[in-house]
Amino acid sequence: MAGRGVPTRWVKREHDLEDLTALVLPGGESSVMLKLAAINELEAPLCALIASGLPVLATCAGLILLARSVRTPEQQSLGMIDCVVERNGYGRQVHSAVHRVTGHNGLPDFDAVFIRAPRIVEVAPTVEVLAEWNGDPVLVRQDNVLAACFHPELVDPSPTLDLFLSAGTH
Ligand code: GLN
Repeated sequence: MAGRGVPTRWVKREHDLEDLTALVLPGGESSVMLKLAAINELEAPLCALIASGLPVLATCAGLILLARSVRTPEQQSLGMIDCVVERNGYGRQVHSAVHRVTGHNGLPDFDAVFIRAPRIVEVAPTVEVLAEWNGDPVLVRQDNVLAACFHPELVDPSPTLDLFLSAGTH
């Protein structure tokens, strides 16, 4: 976001959540992020903030953290978006790839970078599918939460980032 002129700060402790106007849960290693969130007692305040309507972009491991349920292997999650994900569902690091995904609901088709990406295997009817690849949802939205299997920060232009950054204005 910094590259787009949006001021950012890291969230490591509960007090870092104060006065945020939006939140990104980035890619990484979801099992480690989950442990750090537990150690720093971030889960409850994070869920409360998301439930309050703060615009959230969850990408890759961030999506895994927020899913209702996580498979392969099973892992605890925060249940803030009503979908089921399969970790590494698009293969391992060596299978990283750029795919042209199909946009829906006004989004154009765009390139998306998949790196040990989760695969969304189930979505509730309340979840809007904004892009898909190979028949699977890859960008979804539920209320204030936008969640991607891929890394939207690695492409330019990035319709996903545009959508997220406009979230406060619609
Ligand atoms: N495979 C990772 C996980 O399960 C996510 C990879 C990513 O965020 N690029 O946490």
